[in-house]
Amino acid sequence: MAASGPCGSKRKNESSVEGSSSNKKPAFAWNKGLLASMDDPELQEYVDERVVIIKDKYPKAKHHFLVLPKENIPNLKSLKPSHLDLLKYLHKKGKEIIHRTDETLKFRLGYHAIPSMSHLHLHVISQDFDSPCLKNKKHWNSFTTEYFFDSKDIINMLKDEGKVQLDSSKFQEMLKRNLRCHVCRKEFSTMPALKTHIKVHNYRIT
Ligand code: AMP
Ligand code: ZN
Repeated sequence: MAASGPCGSKRKNESSVEGSSSNKKPAFAWNKGLLASMDDPELQEYVDERVVIIKDKYPKAKHHFLVLPKENIPNLKSLKPSHLDLLKYLHKKGKEIIHRTDETLKFRLGYHAIPSMSHLHLHVISQDFDSPCLKNKKHWNSFTTEYFFDSKDIINMLKDEGKVQLDSSKFQEMLKRNLRCHVCRKEFSTMPALKTHIKVHNYRIT
């Protein structure tokens, strides 16, 4: 049966983190989709001469934005020491969008160790993970394990080492880990059980 709703599971144009295991070649470069979305007024939240902020098309929480540089930077590996200022700017703009959205909710700003979409993008995501698009273990673990790098740590890595080099061998394992609540670490055997449980936590900063 075809999936319905905004996060239909039959979509073909999302990433490995999104659970696609098909070996068939896509008819178009789905991993370039962020470039089209950057120009989509429906998704744009903020634009200036250096960055575009869009709403994530398949949000994994109540509030989920992507901050993208206008400069063509494919991924973290492509970062040079000269990008340090730009990286700090992405962070600053990410914080601003939080303040404009809901200052009482907890958010994280960060990058996936192995992104599925091309073009560097900073995730700005509220920690409620209350979204129908958050469906599976890969989604959950990609935002709640060390697969998700805080923006501050990436900035420090670039500052200290002049590059961002992550050991890709250890990250695939993280996506397969057992489901654990990101707040109290309690383990769950199914996504619905975990999603019901996380509602008990207070994500607010109060
Ligand atoms: P990453 O694993 O860091 O590459 O995450 C890519 C993010 O982009 C995910 O959160 C997806 O929900 C989101 N996404 C995928 N396709 C699009 C698109 N065409 N427009 C906007 N966001 C998208
Ligand atoms: Zn918990």
